[in-house]
Amino acid sequence: MNMIRATAPPPDVRVFQTEAPVPVVALARRLGLKVYDEETNAAISGRLVRDTARGGPSGYAVYVNGAHHRNRKRFTLAHEIAHFLLHRHLLEAGIVEDDALYRSHLSNAIESEANRMAAEILMPWHLIDQAIDQGITAPADLASLFQVSETAMRIRLGLPT
Ligand SMILES: [Zn+2]
Repeated sequence: MNMIRATAPPPDVRVFQTEAPVPVVALARRLGLKVYDEETNAAISGRLVRDTARGGPSGYAVYVNGAHHRNRKRFTLAHEIAHFLLHRHLLEAGIVEDDALYRSHLSNAIESEANRMAAEILMPWHLIDQAIDQGITAPADLASLFQVSETAMRIRLGLPT
């Protein structure tokens, strides 16, 4: 398995990246995912579950921790979309035995791959460059424009958090 995999989003995703903030819920729906806000006290942010009854046309549902801040939920959803795009073969092949990737300790590489693609989904460079050209340069301002946490934006920009 090639561990250094491109995390650039596919064309399906790019059509949703015409302006900030990227409409991540609409994107999830377009990909055939059904999205649920989950009431949970668990420390988890989200999970991707193969479920033909509760899933969308793709056969998958995403559960997002409903107690989290809106921006964090957007990142979680983008992260689960990335798992759907990059890793669902692991669920289908039964390599991840659980039906939910969140319990998997399969590999940190998988988690960082999903985080990298989530950043690509929510903070595409062409839109960041556009904002900077318009004079929006402070990380906090960029974060609120893209509806992501300032930490997520700072990581994207390669700044210390
Ligand atoms: Zn994950």
